[in-house]
Amino acid sequence: MDLSFSSEDEAFRQEVRHFLDENLPDHLRRGARASPGVFVEPDIGSEWQAILYRKGWLAYNWPVDCGGTGWSPIQRYIFEKECALADAPSLPVLSLKLLGPVICRFGTPEQKTRILPRILDGTDFWCQGFSEPGAGSDLASLKTRADREGDHYLVNGQKIWTTQAHHASHIFCLAKTSQTEKPQKAISFLLIDMAQPGIKVRPIIGLAGDHEVNEVFLDNATTPLDNLVGEEGQGWTIAKFLLENERGGACHAPKLLSDLAKLRKAAANEPDGQGRSMAEDRLFMFRLSRVELAAQALETTELRVLADMAKGLPPGPQTSLSKLVASTLRQQVDALAVRLYGYAGIALEEHRPLYGEDAPQPLYSKEAQLAAPRYLNSRAWTIFGGTNEVQRTIIAKTVLGL
Ligand SMILES: Cc1cc2nc3c(=O)[nH]c(=O)nc-3n(C[C@H](O)[C@H](O)[C@H](O)COP(=O)(O)OP(=O)(O)OC[C@H]3O[C@@H](n4cnc5c(N)ncnc54)[C@H](O)[C@@H]3O)c2cc1C
Repeated sequence: MDLSFSSEDEAFRQEVRHFLDENLPDHLRRGARASPGVFVEPDIGSEWQAILYRKGWLAYNWPVDCGGTGWSPIQRYIFEKECALADAPSLPVLSLKLLGPVICRFGTPEQKTRILPRILDGTDFWCQGFSEPGAGSDLASLKTRADREGDHYLVNGQKIWTTQAHHASHIFCLAKTSQTEKPQKAISFLLIDMAQPGIKVRPIIGLAGDHEVNEVFLDNATTPLDNLVGEEGQGWTIAKFLLENERGGACHAPKLLSDLAKLRKAAANEPDGQGRSMAEDRLFMFRLSRVELAAQALETTELRVLADMAKGLPPGPQTSLSKLVASTLRQQVDALAVRLYGYAGIALEEHRPLYGEDAPQPLYSKEAQLAAPRYLNSRAWTIFGGTNEVQRTIIAKTVLGL
């Protein structure tokens, strides 16, 4: 394992830094900093997507023959780290990081030509229809069914917790194409156009008042047969590939470390209520340092996975370890912010968005205004993409062999 950066990697870092200095506008940086949700809103994300698209740097986790950049895993890491340091908005994860690699790996040549360019240029915005009211951790028990009718499937069922379905033009779905096979052979991976009478979206408002997730009702929704990805019954295999990317394809440590550095800096200017600064509050600084150390350890683990991937090894089940630790740390970082800003950090501002001309003036500071909604929204981290309990079971079985 070699975790050091080569001179080419250092040169790449400088190139990325220079590009961000020149091309990432201030209003996008401000918008990303003032987004309290798990995802940034599409107005911010899509503008940044268009900038990266023009540069040819958007599909950096896709293979080159599908439009990828050809970056090594270490270069991808450097890119994400520099983006985190520069407060770049997050990109549409569901289209670019989850569906894109699935189509590259399992799609037909026709599907690649039809779907991938429209993801990249932002024409299509995808959401993920896996979870159902009775099927979250136990995804195999999903009930949505897709029945062949001539040249199309007729899809019936309900999805839940569907992130950004209210903005999406399309949904990628798991549905049962057989009612007799055992679940792992009955599930298929389908692509469905949202703009049809058979699909209804109902909002779910989160703890902090944000609208990020939805229920999606499929009532005789239709999709052509050529929107099946892979074979009928291959959906479970494809879902496992996708979930591995969801859990481990991302590099979480750069953003965590960048947020922690901001908290450390802010602590020097925040009063502790007893005439000193929070930087002199030993208990607060102990907590901050402990989380920082864990985030540094996570960074090493993430780099180790990337070093394996650079050798052609799959990310594998250790991605569950990254997801587990990153989610827990995310919540701890957001809890530290609430602690840091005291009373100002517990006031819940419900107006959205918190950026732009109509944003409400903070009572104390912008950072304090964001602390409570961030804290509440980050409860979701230990649930989506597989709960902490589920990740621990995967680690116990497949990493530790228990
Ligand atoms: C903000 C947010 C966004 C999401 N976005 C999407 C999306 O875009 N698309 C999508 O398809 N889904 C999405 N999800 C759904 C997410 O994947 C599920 O919530 C998750 O898989 C858990 O399923 P569940 O909510 O049904 O909980 P359950 O599976 O019912 O779990 C309830 C509790 O029981 C525990 N538990 C369950 N099974 C076990 C077990 N075997 N051993 C030990 N403990 C267990 C869990 O850890 C949890 O604490 C999102 C969820 C959230 C919160």
